[in-house]
Amino acid sequence: MARGERLGVLGGTFDPPHIGHLVAAVNAFHALSLDRVLLVVSNIPWQKVGSRPITPARDRLDLVRAAVAGHPGLVASDLEVRLGGESSTVATLEYLRAERPDRELFLVLGADAAAGLPTWRRSERLPGLCTLVVVDRPGAGQGVPWAGDVVRVAIPGLDISSTELRRRAAAGQPVDFLVPEGVALLMGERLLYRGG
Ligand code: ATP
Ligand code: MG
Repeated sequence: MARGERLGVLGGTFDPPHIGHLVAAVNAFHALSLDRVLLVVSNIPWQKVGSRPITPARDRLDLVRAAVAGHPGLVASDLEVRLGGESSTVATLEYLRAERPDRELFLVLGADAAAGLPTWRRSERLPGLCTLVVVDRPGAGQGVPWAGDVVRVAIPGLDISSTELRRRAAAGQPVDFLVPEGVALLMGERLLYRGG
């Protein structure tokens, strides 16, 4: 019998997606011999709401589609957008598990996100749902507050964030090579992040 799919999940706001996300995803894909890595676009990232304006989910989804275009292993996922409401990684993993009970789930997190795990809704469910995969991120510590196994995947330290890209776009500075060309084009076409 064929084995179940090995499915990676990299969740994020992706506001906008950048090469840090893509290098994390592609190295998890490679290091763990995953069949696919879903870049799951958060519908309403409840932990960020109120701290700054969030770009509409449809635009962020289109940016992620542009970001992964042409890579066979990376897939833009509209799952949380379709589910609607405030997004929860645990609920998303439960959905993916229920959809195909034989698949093995790998949750890919940057080290900063891993440090925030205890603040997630129902995070105590995670160890039974997935293997945690943590990639390095400059400025983040090494500690992971997690009861289950952790797989670490080394990637080149990329000191780049969506926050810095929004700041650049608002200041009229180039984002080229920090985001894939298709993402830069779409940001320009839709005048995203220009408000300052
Ligand atoms: P923001 O500055 O708006 O928080 P971000 O760049 O942190 O944006 P997110 O969408 O918050 O991007 O992150 C989604 C996931 O990608 C998280 O697990 C995060 O740790 C990881 N990630 C983002 N940027 C990097 C990077 N440069 N290196 C490694 N992991 C990253
Ligand atoms: Mg972040």
